[in-house]
Amino acid sequence: MLIEKDKVVQFHYCLSEPGNENFEDSRKGDPIAYLHGHNGMLPGLEEAMAGKQAGDTFSITLEPEKAYGPRNEGATQRVSPKHVYNPQKKKIKFKPGMVIQLNTNNGPQDVVVIKAGLKSLDVDINHPLAGKTLTFDIEIVDVRDATDEEVSHGHAHGVGGHQH
Ligand code: ZN
Repeated sequence: MLIEKDKVVQFHYCLSEPGNENFEDSRKGDPIAYLHGHNGMLPGLEEAMAGKQAGDTFSITLEPEKAYGPRNEGATQRVSPKHVYNPQKKKIKFKPGMVIQLNTNNGPQDVVVIKAGLKSLDVDINHPLAGKTLTFDIEIVDVRDATDEEVSHGHAHGVGGHQH
């Protein structure tokens, strides 16, 4: 079965930055699942997936524009620590450079701490991978038809997808 609109794709990836060591490997956990053709995946990755099938492996290097977008140098925000996503209510010692998640209307979002004060945090709201050229080594694990429910939600359900 080939990857096209309304197929659910499961894949593993290894993400690296040219010139750097591998820094993220999905094989530590479950494969990622997404619904093809619904803007649920990086645009450059979705383009490269089209027409592939289970068992295919390939490598693709994406410029920032096709990955997490360019970095916006002015994108800092001062937030209250109470907006930090912290479901287990752990005591967090915030430090510059730390990646934390903020609660937003679109769910938790990764941001980087620039300055940590007692009552406020200055954070860089760029995605931590914004502005980077990234290489993905992809292995397609499974391709299947989406259910009507998945198509109406616009995302994949089950392992590696939305669990709700
Ligand atoms: Zn859903």
